[in-house]
Amino acid sequence: MKTFKPKLFRQQFPLVVNNEGNRLSVNRMPQVESSLPLVYFDNGATTQKPNCVIDSYHSFYHTTNANVHRASHTLSTRATTAFEQARNSIRMFINATSNKEIIWTKGTTESINLIAMSLGRKILKQGDEIILAISEHHANIVPWQLIAEQTGAIIKVVELDATGRVDLSAFELLLNNKTKILCCAHLSNVIAKINPIKELIQKAKSVGAITIIDGAQAVAHFPIDVQVLDCDFYVFSAHKMYGPTGVGVLYGKQALLETMPPYQGGGEMIKQVSFNKPTTFNALPFKFEAGTPNIAGVIAFSKAIEFISTYDAKQICDYEKQLTIYCYQALQNLSASLKNVVNFIVQGLPDIPVISFSLNDHHNHDIATALDSYGIAIRSGHHCAMPLMEYLNISGCLRVSLAAYNTFEEIDYFIDCLKKILTQESDALLVCGNKDDLNEQASAIIIAQFANIKSWDSRHRQIMLLGKQLSRLDKSARNEQTLISGCESLAWLVVQKGKQKTFHFQADSDAKIIRGLLVIVLAAFNNKTAMQINAFDIENYFKTLGLMQHLSPSRGNGVLAIVEEIKKLAQ
Ligand code: PLP
Repeated sequence: MKTFKPKLFRQQFPLVVNNEGNRLSVNRMPQVESSLPLVYFDNGATTQKPNCVIDSYHSFYHTTNANVHRASHTLSTRATTAFEQARNSIRMFINATSNKEIIWTKGTTESINLIAMSLGRKILKQGDEIILAISEHHANIVPWQLIAEQTGAIIKVVELDATGRVDLSAFELLLNNKTKILCCAHLSNVIAKINPIKELIQKAKSVGAITIIDGAQAVAHFPIDVQVLDCDFYVFSAHKMYGPTGVGVLYGKQALLETMPPYQGGGEMIKQVSFNKPTTFNALPFKFEAGTPNIAGVIAFSKAIEFISTYDAKQICDYEKQLTIYCYQALQNLSASLKNVVNFIVQGLPDIPVISFSLNDHHNHDIATALDSYGIAIRSGHHCAMPLMEYLNISGCLRVSLAAYNTFEEIDYFIDCLKKILTQESDALLVCGNKDDLNEQASAIIIAQFANIKSWDSRHRQIMLLGKQLSRLDKSARNEQTLISGCESLAWLVVQKGKQKTFHFQADSDAKIIRGLLVIVLAAFNNKTAMQINAFDIENYFKTLGLMQHLSPSRGNGVLAIVEEIKKLAQ
């Protein structure tokens, strides 16, 4: 077993190390964006990949590519052997008793859907109860809502205790002989406190309920032993633990899996197919693996498992804990020095390196975008946990999620940048045109303003300045009818038809960055005819401004949704 040395470990992650060279002090930001540093703090969403995982893809397609389980030729045998060895590695990694208990899926989401659609549809009847925690990820809510609607089962929701963990006594009160399923995250991707999972499993078993544990966030940070937990199912994704995207695991107790009908039909999951007699199904685990699997991904995942298994897990855990404490305390200190600006979503240190918070008087989206202009990737929004946000009475939050390749220096840089963002509002900046300029010439004026700006943070500040020029919409105009869907922050759009068939748009948002982007978008479309609006090349406009990332189809800021809405309204 290798001793965990943070620097050497980090060296294995090319995307991280190849982009660290230009990280400077916050006062000496690089002037060209190609040299922008990367500080990747969005590991809860997906981790970066080590060389061995990246190389595994290359090597598979160079030396081994063939379909698995189907052919008798040598290449297929080689691919099948590597594929099944990967299954064995995962079995050992979580201490399952048999390879038959390891089903490959696309990820946690598909694993839960498989259980809901196969087992849920089979066992649930009208009035049966499914217990979920209020803090679940949508992946562990929506499949159950779909199945409840089909079967007449009822979803019961257990709330959290003061520490942010699932409340055991509230859970006990919900349990009864109608409880058929408990599906609960080992820990929430927002709260990051380990739920009392063993107690929950034992109590659920006492009324004969099936237990399903969502280990998407847990498995990346501490060892899992499914026999010790004694859960019926444990599900997780490869990509959150240094493996590739598109691969996930469904662990299920063999006896239970044997009773479950197939989830999808197709090749490989059958024993015999006939039009004259009933089709019969393959043995486990293949019964649940219809079609050609993600062979290269599965093999690359086993390389990720080999990679982390060569290190002492406790040393990695200890290092992650030190990073967490360091970051948490730095945020506390920042808060103290800036009049309690930081609100942690729950009190007390998290159990894994995931810290969720918001900042007084600052929209989460503004902060995440401002940090991005310094090369720091953190997540903002509802984190696919809208019921939790509603429960906490917040619209979203910021989340810093660290991995074992992150460093204390990166945290210092993050805190320095955050401090600068929170104190810079009154900085003297490039002055842009006033509201009257936002007519015919507006887009040309904006292009001229951006022409000489080279660095990302200056461009970001210019957008924020533009945002100050946007007249706010009257409260009554900010309603359900004018709300634009597809935008993570709230954004509203109002249209009026002017003389000569021109359109006049007014827009607003609760995020400052979006207000700035709205000025840029409206400059292009206001007082134009439908034909001019449809002919306008918005991509080229954003490219010229150096703002293409704001037009991406990711749901982050939704500028694309706004543009689409404008085009729709102009039809
Ligand atoms: N469950 C939890 C707790 C998660 O954090 C996530 C992803 O963030 C998921 C489920 C869904 O995982 P995937 O998108 O890999 O299917």
